[in-house]
Amino acid sequence: MAMIQTIEGPKDTADLGPTLAHEHLCSGFGGMDHTAIFDLDEAVRRATAALLEAYEAGIRTVIDCTPVDNGRQAAVFERVAGKTPMNVIAAVGVYRAIPISYRAWDPDTYAAYFLRDIEQGMERTGIRAGILKIAWDIETQLEALRGPLETAARGAARAAKAGGVPITCHTAPAERHGDRLIEIFQEEGLDLAAVTIGHTNDSTDMDYVIGLAKKGANVGLDRFTPRRGEEEMARRSQVALDLANAGYAEQISLGHDGAGYSLTGGPATGGPRAEDPKVWRLVPEWELPWLRAHGATEDQIDAMMVRSTRRTFEAAAAMKH
Ligand SMILES: [Zn+2]
Repeated sequence: MAMIQTIEGPKDTADLGPTLAHEHLCSGFGGMDHTAIFDLDEAVRRATAALLEAYEAGIRTVIDCTPVDNGRQAAVFERVAGKTPMNVIAAVGVYRAIPISYRAWDPDTYAAYFLRDIEQGMERTGIRAGILKIAWDIETQLEALRGPLETAARGAARAAKAGGVPITCHTAPAERHGDRLIEIFQEEGLDLAAVTIGHTNDSTDMDYVIGLAKKGANVGLDRFTPRRGEEEMARRSQVALDLANAGYAEQISLGHDGAGYSLTGGPATGGPRAEDPKVWRLVPEWELPWLRAHGATEDQIDAMMVRSTRRTFEAAAAMKH
């Protein structure tokens, strides 16, 4: 057991229950709360509705993976807290393109920046971040960003060790980001059990997927939205089944990468994109029944939904001592 920080304060890892490992209550861009296209009341209303829907489908914890430059709003957490019985864990970190203001930082500067939110609270609230988030995508192909992205990953590793919180990574599996991130985290002396290599069900390469688990990382099979269609949802479920049957159910976390409210990918007229409040019900109501129908055991399901993410928090907490 270990303590984790939720938006309502500390909880025990034993109380996490079925967990969605990578979601967004509210996302978009840093500073969006200072623009006329953002509506705080609407964001709170939508995030609360989506949390209640997910709770009804059996989910007990949602991990919000939104760094501040991806539109994280502590005000949303403040107002959502207490409105639903769901545990919500908020993140600190940095998103794909790395803001120009961060790009000259060294790893310890990143770590100090991250640790403030982990130890004291975010955006002048007392709400503490419970997880670190970094995001590697196609921007790693840009020479100007490759260095800062690697430096931010090192900073996250140092903050994870000092703060005792896990790291979740947005990755593009086609770029094999997980392999390089694992190298960096090993150089930084991080326990890989505290690391989730996320969005790995974007991959169709099972050697890569299983390789990450073999090295000891948690594997986030955490993209699952209705926009992708049933054939693609079945393919993604098959990745989870194959990795579980290879013996790694304890290292699989599931999620949608879905948003309660998001300005990312919104309409050309501005404002939030259309979201179904049932956005977080697809894993419990589509993927889990698919897995059961294809032979997954209740123990494997429990490993994927409850024990895997819990293990990342416990491994992270153990590093601090
Ligand atoms: Zn995401």
